[in-house]
Amino acid sequence: MSGSNAWLREARRVLLLIAAAGAVGWSLGVPFIGLSLGLLAVVVYWGHHLRLVQRWLDNPEGEPPEGSGLWGRIFDNVFLLQRRNRETQSRLESALDYLQDSLASMRDAAIIVDTRGNIAWVNESANFLLGIRFPDDRGQPLLNLIRLPEFHAYFDGEDHSTPLRILPSSDSERCLQVEMSRFGAGDRLIFVRDVSETFKLEQMRQDFVANVSHELRTPLTVVKGYIDTLEGLPELDSPRLTRPLKNMSEQASRMETILRDLLWLSRIESVETQRKTELIDVGALASETASELQTAFSDRELQSDIERNIYVHGDRAELHSALSNLVINGLKYSDDGPVLIEWKKRGDRGIFSVTDFGVGISEQHIPRLTERFYRVDRSRSQRIGGTGLGLAIVKHVATSHLAELDIRSEIGRGSTFSLEFPIADIDQE
Ligand code: ADP
Repeated sequence: MSGSNAWLREARRVLLLIAAAGAVGWSLGVPFIGLSLGLLAVVVYWGHHLRLVQRWLDNPEGEPPEGSGLWGRIFDNVFLLQRRNRETQSRLESALDYLQDSLASMRDAAIIVDTRGNIAWVNESANFLLGIRFPDDRGQPLLNLIRLPEFHAYFDGEDHSTPLRILPSSDSERCLQVEMSRFGAGDRLIFVRDVSETFKLEQMRQDFVANVSHELRTPLTVVKGYIDTLEGLPELDSPRLTRPLKNMSEQASRMETILRDLLWLSRIESVETQRKTELIDVGALASETASELQTAFSDRELQSDIERNIYVHGDRAELHSALSNLVINGLKYSDDGPVLIEWKKRGDRGIFSVTDFGVGISEQHIPRLTERFYRVDRSRSQRIGGTGLGLAIVKHVATSHLAELDIRSEIGRGSTFSLEFPIADIDQE
């Protein structure tokens, strides 16, 4: 039976009742009393059902009341809606339980923080990794419990595209990796993973490279010394020996440069997570680098467009090596065209860029350029004296300065390598 049918039947029933009461009243000579009694009966009947509704709503868990006609239909529909509602609620509750169970069982710490930065929920691993207890610490500001400045900067920052590594205490070997994402009205979901093992392996790899490079330097210096001595001996000044000796001397110098770059890279890597506090006038440093390289490459044209008084927090030696690597690459990979050096402010970022009009790089190589020893054209690079470590150094300097390296290039037209730094607010210093 449809809703409008039930309504019509109910209306008909009420009208019939009133009409019958009116007819009885009329036959007894009191039509108005008959009509009034009929109306009273309708009011009593509806009032009785309203009371049933009210009683049921006071205890909605109970069975719905029995009702006839339209009322019965209303009770059935409300009961049906209530049952569907309960089913949806229980489905949602079990989905939530399932999700919470899976987060709770993770070895990584999972923390949900509300819009005000207070802890809403944490799993058990958060206790083990960070000492946060649940439910005792519910409602506490998370930043009161994790006091590391780098975590505060990450938590309040906008960019969470890369995870943060933190060393909770300087004397322990524990390293944690933090990942954060926002959801809902600004709540945050944070995962903290123990990456101490990977960190230890990385450190061992770094130490190994640094030690090997260091150990190889002394024998290489000895070999190079002997080659220089041999080159100077008049009795060895024969056409058969000059060329091999020259070759040996060149290769020994190349090895020396590679070892120097490897050691420098290891040093930068080892201090990568340390915050840089020195204020550097990158414009002044860029001008200095440009004039040094102009002296070294006196036959080349170096153009500069440099803004002054834009500072970044940094390490002078690291920045100098990154800037000069980029300019030297620009000079090396553009036969004799000019190289343009720029340092400009864009919003709250400082952009250092080097543009050349040389060979360019095809797109598929660009993502791999910062890998150690990756070269687009090995023979060309070796011919012009590359170690294959320059851009790896630039990338590490960028990471340790919270900067981004951007590479744009077109084959045969040239390339622009840019470093985008967060600018230091010197008024706040
Ligand atoms: P290399 O010492 O070989 O120059 P880099 O790490 O500095 O090593 O650069 C890696 C590779 O990237 C280079 O071998 C070269 O193929 C390519 N490259 C770097 N800069 C440029 C540039 N400005 N133009 C074209 N290719 C470049």
